[in-house]
Amino acid sequence: MIPSFSVDHRAIVPGIFISRVDEVGNGMVTTYDIRLRRPNIEPAIDVGAMHSLEHIIATFLRNDPDWKDEVIYWGPMGCLTGFYLLLKGNRSPQEIYDLILRAFKAVGDAQSVPGATAKNCGFYLMHNLDMAKWYAAEFVDYLTSNSENPVIFEYPKTERLITDDGQQFYDS
Ligand SMILES: [Zn+2]
Repeated sequence: MIPSFSVDHRAIVPGIFISRVDEVGNGMVTTYDIRLRRPNIEPAIDVGAMHSLEHIIATFLRNDPDWKDEVIYWGPMGCLTGFYLLLKGNRSPQEIYDLILRAFKAVGDAQSVPGATAKNCGFYLMHNLDMAKWYAAEFVDYLTSNSENPVIFEYPKTERLITDDGQQFYDS
């Protein structure tokens, strides 16, 4: 593993950030935090909207002809302030900016939530497409108006927390 830094959550703003890079076989896998909310300052994302954003954007990413073979994982953060995206390779956040913008624009175009059925989902009643569209539109506006702002691409770093029993702390 390539050692990862820790992030000072008090200083996080929304954006597209690299949280870690791992060597896997002969290649690399990069984990991005796609952060929509300022932790502990703004209210976290509505859980039904979070779930719908998970379904719609996972489906979008895994069907995109240019990116589907690069996608390893898309899923929600437990703190409900954003999403994890794992991609093959080691691209900068700026290199995936257009992909993320298109993914969230796709939420605005969605007529329904894919896979929101008892057969395809672990809690198919817990969806909220209208709220998902609201969060997505807000994030698209934010990314667009801050496209030249470096703070949306680089995390505020800090030392990694050591727990009381001496373990290094991780949240994913
Ligand atoms: Zn589901």
